[in-house]
Amino acid sequence: PSLTREHTERLAEAGIDVVRVVYPDLLGTDRARDVLLDHLPTACAHGLAFCRAVYHTTPRGEVVPVTGGLEAGLPDMLVRPDLSTLAPLPWEPGVASCLGDVTDARTGAPTPESPRDLLRTVLARCAEHGLNPVAGPELEYFLCESDPAAPGGRRRYSTAAGTVYTAGLRADPDNHLLRTLRSLRDLGIGVTAGNHEFDGSQFEINLGHSRALDAADRAFRLKSAVKELARAEGRTATFMAKPFNDAGGSGFHVHLSCVDGEGGNVFDDPAGPYGLSATALHAVAGLLAHAPALAALLNPTVNSYKRFGPDTLAPWLIDWGLDNRSAMVRVPPERGAGARLELRLGDAAANPYLLVAAASAAVLLGVRDGREPAAPLKGYGYDTASAPLLPASLPAALDALEADTDLTQLLGKEFVSAYLTYKRDEVGRYHRHVTDWELDEYADHL
Ligand code: GLU
Ligand code: MG
Ligand code: MG
Repeated sequence: PSLTREHTERLAEAGIDVVRVVYPDLLGTDRARDVLLDHLPTACAHGLAFCRAVYHTTPRGEVVPVTGGLEAGLPDMLVRPDLSTLAPLPWEPGVASCLGDVTDARTGAPTPESPRDLLRTVLARCAEHGLNPVAGPELEYFLCESDPAAPGGRRRYSTAAGTVYTAGLRADPDNHLLRTLRSLRDLGIGVTAGNHEFDGSQFEINLGHSRALDAADRAFRLKSAVKELARAEGRTATFMAKPFNDAGGSGFHVHLSCVDGEGGNVFDDPAGPYGLSATALHAVAGLLAHAPALAALLNPTVNSYKRFGPDTLAPWLIDWGLDNRSAMVRVPPERGAGARLELRLGDAAANPYLLVAAASAAVLLGVRDGREPAAPLKGYGYDTASAPLLPASLPAALDALEADTDLTQLLGKEFVSAYLTYKRDEVGRYHRHVTDWELDEYADHL
């Protein structure tokens, strides 16, 4: 909706004097500007100007070459507030936030690095094939105390063991989860539940399902909100894939289905194999066939590949199974309107827009190409004889993305090329960095 005087008056009456316009960058970081309410009409009419360098500057301040930014002389990009997403921030009185769409200031078109638009484009291609993806995200994260003596300056908030699927003070002595859940409810992003995860200080929060763009918006806002809420407690929340050596990783599972024009679930078929439709099986096969390339986007950091492994509940092999949590794609037991796939590949570090876009694209390709999956995994699934391995590292996954011409075409060549440039630079910086592990392993022994 465009901004009317009644709109700003209503915001003022609700005590809002600042609107935080937030947009995701290529990596899914929440970038934002706080706009005074009086200035909001201008911001909506013209867009907010940001330097495109934000795509090119790492948290350490290193500048990374990505197409269209540096060589063009760091031009403006314009972020247009999407007022349909406006919501007061429960923990920040007087502030409402809304999402923004990134456009090229000269052409008005989306830039290749606008993840929200990339998702819209993929969803439009899905719709041409009668597929309307629906997603239900689940995110895991660790809550940390700052501790200068600990690696990375962080230690876990609670190291209580044996606390998976618990709620309450024993594993969460300061009631972090309760406070967070209530704030997220008040933010209106469709959070349904939360619990303590496998490792001390690790939590999971579940979002209800909805159409894919809305689901990605909500997951993006969830990550941002959880980090803000942790900071308000004087702590930090990390969505890194594998932040601790003595704990498992954090997943970003997504429950996926597709609906037809009338909202009917097209993955359900009581007469089909396993009660699934041919479309659902093609979707599974698409996710499996494109898994190595998907990993580049769903497991986007050099750290991501340390989460994979046998006996982790994270995947390690490219496989699927019926209600089998050791598989990369699990088909939960529900059928009918609830028939769906749980893609367990992604980790919490993933950009929600790229995760949902890439998964939807792989589903579309599986359906378009009429792919059939191999037989579902039986039993506990970490036997390397039964299925191919996922890429072992980010460079291997980036190579797989580059080689996957069908997926690249759907995601856009410009985007894939910008992403590969950015990520290969990251890999290079990582490989040149001497780590504590190397010093411990080699310094005194060789
Ligand atoms: N933490 C696991 C992962 O990295 C998932 C555990 C679970 O099934 O909830 O994917
Ligand atoms: Mg979990
Ligand atoms: Mg799950």
